[in-house]
Amino acid sequence: MTDIFIAVAIGVTIFWVIRKILIMLATPPPVIDPGEIIEVEHHYRCSVCGTELIVTAASVTETDPPKHCREEMTLTWHGGT
Ligand SMILES: [Zn+2]
Repeated sequence: MTDIFIAVAIGVTIFWVIRKILIMLATPPPVIDPGEIIEVEHHYRCSVCGTELIVTAASVTETDPPKHCREEMTLTWHGGT
């Protein structure tokens, strides 16, 4: 009898987790506020593979450098604000 309760509990848990994941995937990302985007000129380089990236517009709320090869890119030059 205990096995049935354990099986039902596991089943409900798996159903709940899958439901949460599907809701998260179905939710569209938030709308970007144009007022929070500023023009910049940031040059980044990946310290792992050497890929270079120039960012011309950035969010004022997201100040972390972009990632490449699962590492944060190194800021090599910046102009503007
Ligand atoms: Zn890289």
